[in-house]
Amino acid sequence: MAFHQQQEQSLTRSLDPTDWASFRADAHSMLDDILSYVQDLREHPVWQPMPAGLRAGFDRPLPKGATDLMEVHRRFMDEILPYGGGNAHPGFMGWVQGGGTPVGIVAEMLAAGLNGNLGGRDHAPIEVERQILRWLRDLVGFPKSAEGIFVTGTSMANFIGVLVARTKALGVKVRRNGVGSSRLTAYTSAASHGSIARAMEFAGLGSDALHVIRVNERDEMSLTELQAAIERDRASGFVPFLISGSAGTVDIGAIDDLNGLADIAAREHIWFHIDGAYGALGMLAPAIAPRLRGMERADSLAFDLHKWGQVPYDAGFVLVRDGELQRATFASQAPYLTHDRRGMAAGDWWPCDYGPDLSRSFKALKTWFTLMVFGTDALGASISRTCFLAAELGRIVEAASELELLAPVRLNIVCFRYRCNDPDAINTRIIADLQEGGLVAPSLTKIRGNVAIRAAIVNHRTDMRDVEALVSATLALGRMATQPVTQSAAR
Ligand SMILES: *Cc1c(COP(=O)(O)O)cnc(C)c1O
Repeated sequence: MAFHQQQEQSLTRSLDPTDWASFRADAHSMLDDILSYVQDLREHPVWQPMPAGLRAGFDRPLPKGATDLMEVHRRFMDEILPYGGGNAHPGFMGWVQGGGTPVGIVAEMLAAGLNGNLGGRDHAPIEVERQILRWLRDLVGFPKSAEGIFVTGTSMANFIGVLVARTKALGVKVRRNGVGSSRLTAYTSAASHGSIARAMEFAGLGSDALHVIRVNERDEMSLTELQAAIERDRASGFVPFLISGSAGTVDIGAIDDLNGLADIAAREHIWFHIDGAYGALGMLAPAIAPRLRGMERADSLAFDLHKWGQVPYDAGFVLVRDGELQRATFASQAPYLTHDRRGMAAGDWWPCDYGPDLSRSFKALKTWFTLMVFGTDALGASISRTCFLAAELGRIVEAASELELLAPVRLNIVCFRYRCNDPDAINTRIIADLQEGGLVAPSLTKIRGNVAIRAAIVNHRTDMRDVEALVSATLALGRMATQPVTQSAAR
């Protein structure tokens, strides 16, 4: 009997299968399908455009009746899976995105089965999230008084950092009174991520109140310009309240002078936030950790487990040194959220008191599995490998006369271009051709106004084959684009 026939709903029937044995068989085959996909990733293109006909198939009316599970799964296999964003693929170097792992897949499945709501209350999943909080707090060198929670990603974590800094500057009464005509100003470098400016917008302070400081020759926020801007602003009646540093910039992987920023923040009594979206987990890699010195001095730190940590999306994290202040920024008195000393509403640590979300998924489980199953040595080694591959790519580019490095390779990101007469147009075309070619997918950025091919190596599956494929395909496309047509036709 088909599953949808068994699913004839009546007032007495739940949404669980009536025939568990057949559901079980279907579920096993679904698990096999997705594991085979990951096992054979290299046999698939990194990315391919979705055919128009399939796209149109996602503009159908809301289904009133049932569809057989295996039929829906078949549509997933045929119409969704082959047209994903590509970040699981070893050839993906487009943006700073993690690859996920098979361990993450099964952990997500278990979390869905438990269907925990991690807003708060007294249950083991909360203890798992707290365990991760303690691990991450210790990893980055924050004190025991620090608090933190999982959030969707660093964009949200940066927003929380700005909100807690706002509480520090204006007091808890800002929750009732709003920001009014505050003269708060924040500081970040020209290389910082767009989510910092957006956090200022969301916080009601406005992105104009974010003063962008130039970077020095090492692509770090200029400390002298920062100091000068703070003094200038104070003299004009502004109230500097936040410095946001970067531990791994999105374009080229530069790390600010974190101790230098911490010194200024301490001297000026300004909140020190760090966007360590992917870079903060460099603490797991022995060669990178020393370059993050000063991170332990931040007041708040935003980072992701879904990038260098390879935990499946989404898994961002925010840590706040003054945990009480984080709580004061978000905790609510709603009667249905009353904490008790016994029963299910017990437990003194409720994540909903530390951020905007009430209902929250069990992101901690896939992270716990990832950290436990691999251990930090292996995760650190995979981070080191991405940096090694980037360094190799940088060396190959420098040695190739037709290629040109546009920024020093500081971490795991390489920005380069094909040398030619009209480099912006040609390299833009090379990037699109590479992406559509399906073998290796970098993205486009601009370095000092010039179009760059940006290879951000984040995926643990990427290896030397992918680096070599990127170089040889770029050379071939560059030559094809710059050679006169007659000449190439004559060959
Ligand atoms: C990815 C990234 C972000 C945004 O993080 P999300 O998890 O995508 O919200 C912020 N800053 C930097 C430096 C990043 O690389």
